[in-house]
Amino acid sequence: MAIDWCPFATKRPIVADNFMKGRNGRPVKAVVLHIAAGNLPGVFPTFNDPTRGASAHFCIGKNGTIEQYVSVNDTAFANGLRWDAQNQQWICPHNNIVQPSWQDLTPPDNPNWYTVSIEHEGMPQDKWTSDMYDANMRLQLWLSDQFQLTYVAHRTLVGHFEIDPVDKPSCPGPNVEWDRIVADAAAIQAARKLTWMPINTDSALYNFAEAQNLGYPQTDEYEFTSGGATYVGQVYNLGIVFVKKGDWGNVLWMKKPM
Ligand SMILES: [Zn+2]
Repeated sequence: MAIDWCPFATKRPIVADNFMKGRNGRPVKAVVLHIAAGNLPGVFPTFNDPTRGASAHFCIGKNGTIEQYVSVNDTAFANGLRWDAQNQQWICPHNNIVQPSWQDLTPPDNPNWYTVSIEHEGMPQDKWTSDMYDANMRLQLWLSDQFQLTYVAHRTLVGHFEIDPVDKPSCPGPNVEWDRIVADAAAIQAARKLTWMPINTDSALYNFAEAQNLGYPQTDEYEFTSGGATYVGQVYNLGIVFVKKGDWGNVLWMKKPM
């Protein structure tokens, strides 16, 4: 079971009847990106307005703020469709017949049951700020952990226009970098499986190297002896840093021999 509320989002639960408890038993299979066509402060009041009948799970501000309005285990009303069984077609909330390009719709299930929706502050033509991009990535990674999603553009990461091409052709807009998002997510997820260089930020060597602008550690700390004394050393991008054990205030360094 996924965690209901993202721990790094600002929790703003809506109380209006604009979402549904649970997901009708459907597992989440995609994240849907939206544009709010407005500013972040206006999003919560809209979703909390009982006359609107709309909601999303999240909205991300241009400054990287993430707000959450609905538990990810509940159904938000962001990208719903109704299946017309008699005529075997999808009907959008404005009662238009739509032919969605997203190929993972499963009639007659409402797509809201198996998607997580993320709104973004701004207008469709806006390019995301880097803060917005980073926050969106952090949230998507958290969602991929919650629902075991591997992001594939237009399959597990979808735009609203791919569900409702009639009323929402510009949601989330032409400047969303789909390929960059899925490549970045894949790079991070692959990197997480590696063993990273241990960095002890309390270490005398690390603090010395940082103060001297010697870059990042390239090795773990290692011990060596010289003149009967034991030293601790570590290789950084721009030098080798070392100190006699116990004499922690006297860190020395030398340039790496070329
Ligand atoms: Zn939308």
